[in-house]
Amino acid sequence: MATVSAHDMRREESLLASRTVDEWSVEDSARLYGLAEWGKGYFGVAPSGNLLVTPTKDPRRAIDLHKVIQGLEERGITTPIIVRFRDMAEHRLGEIRGAFDRAMAENGYTGGYSCIYPIKVNQQRHVCEEIRDIGVKLDFGLEAGSKPELLAVLGLTENLGSMPIVCNGFKDEEYVEMAVLAHKLGRNITPVVERYRELELVVKHARAYGVRPRIGIRCKPTTRGSGRWESSGGMRSKFGLQVYGILDAIEYLKQHEMVDCLKMLHFHIGSQISDIRQLKNAVSELAHIYTEMVRLGAGMDTIDVGGGLGVDYDGSQSSWASSINYTINEYAADVVYRIKAACDTAGVKHPRILSESGRAMVAYSSVLVVDVLGRNRYSSDPDMPKCKAMIEAEAKGPPQPIIDLVDAYEALGKRDPVEIHHDASQAFDEAMSLFQLGYLSLPMRAAAERLHWAIGRQVIVKAREASGDGSLHEELQDLPEALSDIYFCNFSVFQSLPDSWAIDQIFPICPIHRLNEKPTRRATLADMSCDSDGKVDRFACVDKRDCKPVLEVHDLVENGTYYLGFFLVGAYQEVLGDLHNLFGDTHVVHVGVDDDGHWEIDEIVEGDTVREVLSYVQFDHEDLERSVRRDSERAVKRGGMTVGDARSLMRFYEGGLEGYTYLE
Ligand code: PLP
Repeated sequence: MATVSAHDMRREESLLASRTVDEWSVEDSARLYGLAEWGKGYFGVAPSGNLLVTPTKDPRRAIDLHKVIQGLEERGITTPIIVRFRDMAEHRLGEIRGAFDRAMAENGYTGGYSCIYPIKVNQQRHVCEEIRDIGVKLDFGLEAGSKPELLAVLGLTENLGSMPIVCNGFKDEEYVEMAVLAHKLGRNITPVVERYRELELVVKHARAYGVRPRIGIRCKPTTRGSGRWESSGGMRSKFGLQVYGILDAIEYLKQHEMVDCLKMLHFHIGSQISDIRQLKNAVSELAHIYTEMVRLGAGMDTIDVGGGLGVDYDGSQSSWASSINYTINEYAADVVYRIKAACDTAGVKHPRILSESGRAMVAYSSVLVVDVLGRNRYSSDPDMPKCKAMIEAEAKGPPQPIIDLVDAYEALGKRDPVEIHHDASQAFDEAMSLFQLGYLSLPMRAAAERLHWAIGRQVIVKAREASGDGSLHEELQDLPEALSDIYFCNFSVFQSLPDSWAIDQIFPICPIHRLNEKPTRRATLADMSCDSDGKVDRFACVDKRDCKPVLEVHDLVENGTYYLGFFLVGAYQEVLGDLHNLFGDTHVVHVGVDDDGHWEIDEIVEGDTVREVLSYVQFDHEDLERSVRRDSERAVKRGGMTVGDARSLMRFYEGGLEGYTYLE
């Protein structure tokens, strides 16, 4: 018989099998949830079992996330909450700066480097302002991908004439005109031509306003990225000019005596580049195009390698879609080395390098914390006395599949668990067929279900005991998932974790307390929306290029709130989220830590109220109140309600409109 050896088991399973409840330690939790791997030094566990966040990786300035949540609840701010850590973005940006500085020093690179924050990654004002302020210190800049984003960026860069601004995305007359005017205003702005028509617009408005703008061109490299965003690059990509288009653009600019304005070559091969080889090829290709553009007389001084610096969401450090097989240092070294090599060979001055590494800048700094509202569970106890009473009450005697299920249950511990599983599955399938044909009563179906689930749960326990190392026979591999709990969480996947729903993105998830206790349950997570899609059932699995269908969790305790943290959600999630079921923005709390290691609240941005989300879909709360009031008056008139009932209803209704869209 084929079995699964301990060697083939996931790290999580062997860890759980090798420790009793009493032996369990916080180090085991850290290993189980892969904190070191995906946390990259920002997350750890305190001896108390609470999750620690170290925004600057300095252990003396660690923040106890569970205490923060309790402190916020005392102040009336309840979960779900996004906690944003003040110093973490600065630390991340410092790491990117450091990696490029080292790479440039090691390679003798003289062109300089700036990281550009594409505000689409998270346009919340607080985030943009924080990045801008750090950007001033680190010589970083901002990117706009649309006209509204450009208007925001211009407002954000008052008096910051040297901060580089890159304009990407489709551009109409107004967008281009605004970029040209921003140049006149004294901004260091580069509109990037994505379509030939945009070049004509830039030339038109530059002439009309008498300016000589900086112009960038986005090229379509033959190299594609990898993973979910690979179609952003390559010949069929939506954006950019092919090489013949770039040559035409140079000719066009020469005709208009503006070829010296062509300063920058840009590409973007996709977000979350998981395999460094894609980047190496694309940068080499870009650098060669750059040197040729210089040779053809363009006034080039900058090369922009776009976004794509990825985040290791699952901690596997592999080229799997939720991970990356390189570090920031390797990324920087490759970019710098390849551009330098191409330029040196062609005898071209080293250009300034830009990268638009949005995800890598801000993903780490936000954590979504949710409370678990309840659970669904399959019991390992079928309540035999009740089952037997139901069986005895059957006038025609119990059908054969029910007798078989009872036999299977009673054989637990006496026969091979795999055989019992086979027998019970067969009997259950037969019972369900009989029910569909109308030959099984409802009480007998209920008995079949109780017995089937209980046998399944006990088979897992007995099989693990029998194996000696906690492993499960191949035939039983799917049972833990099929019989796992469902934990209902107070949040909406569509609002707070849209990439999990839309593109199966994996985010690390971990309890933020009780990490000194062995998690004894496995669960999938369901949100509060009324959609069966509103769930998380793919979890990071550190040691394999794989994900697992269930998360190890603690049993819920009476009168105790259980909190789960969804990590690395700072990029894209907040701004891509939607109002499905009218669940609105969650509260966002900005938290810092002082020099003595005490956490402090910098800012609380309260989430949407029900009234606000209703107004987004054009409901006027006064109209709503008036119509409910009219109906309650009618109910009073016909005697269906007392005046007191009507008053309670209105108080409740008005209070509901002003409340949080989540359970409070
Ligand atoms: N630049 C451009 C043109 C993009 O389209 C994107 C995102 O897709 C980015 C930069 C940011 O990419 P990332 O957040 O993966 O670094």
